[in-house]
Amino acid sequence: MIRKTRLYTPGPTPLLPAAQFAMAAADIHHRTPEFRALFQKVLAQLKVFIGTANDVILFSSSGTGAMEASVSNLTSAGDRVLVLTAGKFGERWVDLTRAFGCQVDVVEVPYGQTFDMAEVKKALRPEHKAVYMQASETSTTATHDVEAVARLVKDTPALLVVDGITGLGTMTFDVDGWGIDILIGGSQKAVMIPPGLAYLSVSEKAWKAMETAKNPRYYFDLRKERKNAAKGESAYTPAVALVAALGAALDYIAGQAGGDLEKGRIALIHNAQVNAAATRAGLVALGFTLFAPSAPGAAATAVAAPEGIDSSDIVKALKARFSLVAANGQGSMKGKILRVAHLGFFDYLDTIAFLGAMEHIAKDTLGLPVEYGKAVAAAQQVYAEAGK
Ligand SMILES: *Cc1c(COP(=O)(O)O)cnc(C)c1O
Repeated sequence: MIRKTRLYTPGPTPLLPAAQFAMAAADIHHRTPEFRALFQKVLAQLKVFIGTANDVILFSSSGTGAMEASVSNLTSAGDRVLVLTAGKFGERWVDLTRAFGCQVDVVEVPYGQTFDMAEVKKALRPEHKAVYMQASETSTTATHDVEAVARLVKDTPALLVVDGITGLGTMTFDVDGWGIDILIGGSQKAVMIPPGLAYLSVSEKAWKAMETAKNPRYYFDLRKERKNAAKGESAYTPAVALVAALGAALDYIAGQAGGDLEKGRIALIHNAQVNAAATRAGLVALGFTLFAPSAPGAAATAVAAPEGIDSSDIVKALKARFSLVAANGQGSMKGKILRVAHLGFFDYLDTIAFLGAMEHIAKDTLGLPVEYGKAVAAAQQVYAEAGK
């Protein structure tokens, strides 16, 4: 039978056709009025998508480039910082801040869990220059309470830097109200386009901190990018085609709410949250155990492989039988968990297709006692209750 390739990975995510067409047509030079108009339009749209009055800076890099910029531009060697870590991306903050010579204090909880605010409060010191965290820890699919952390950080001199790479488009942030100094997003996640762009909002407090921060930076120099962005340009050759794709994707998201991007963002978040809830219900009905039950995210859902089964075999079977690409665990979670994404260009029927496939794999590959339709029905129930 025909098998369509379907991506269910939490980055890269499925591509929006309108964005692909925009990429293919983006035969423009980056030092022209045409590009400046496009770049300025996209930066203005990103402010609405992030939900902030702060400046937004766009880099041609993967998301980690913006993470690096958030360390190199804000800190000096020897600065004390606090990292909240509960997965592979939290560990990236630890590695990055250490690479730039920071003295790194860490609040760490096991994979699949989230932070206890009493522990965070206890760890915060007046000397901390910055606090680094994820909103959505994609490696475990747990979410963290950014608002609660922001409330604690607000009483200290520290900057709050949030990796929202899979948080944006799957959860709500009040960037300026809560006081998030930097919030980072990436192109291959909820905005439905290929990898290669990173974007971040930067507060006045963060711009001020850059005046005295001494760590070296060159390509990822935020102040240089801000100066160029004011003229509608980037400092170096940008990924022109991806910028065009991003504009088309943000138009599409706005189009989901009659052209209102702010409402479209809320609709996109709702879409991911309903698909995540339906997926959780379906997988639990199939007998799987959720990996992050205390704080399940809407970017992706992780389940533990059943006792005695390697999750790599589930990933391989989904690919071989249905051309369905799901994600394995990362690092020490490899073989132990299966992750399936909901962020960006996924619809309800994608969720039904995934669960239908999982019923076959659970029965034929894993030998579990499966009653066809049970996982699908559980998801349908969630969808029916959530409304359209
Ligand atoms: C995808 C992702 C990143 C960025 O990874 P890149 O490969 O550099 O794009 C960072 N943090 C989280 C939480 C992510 O999901």
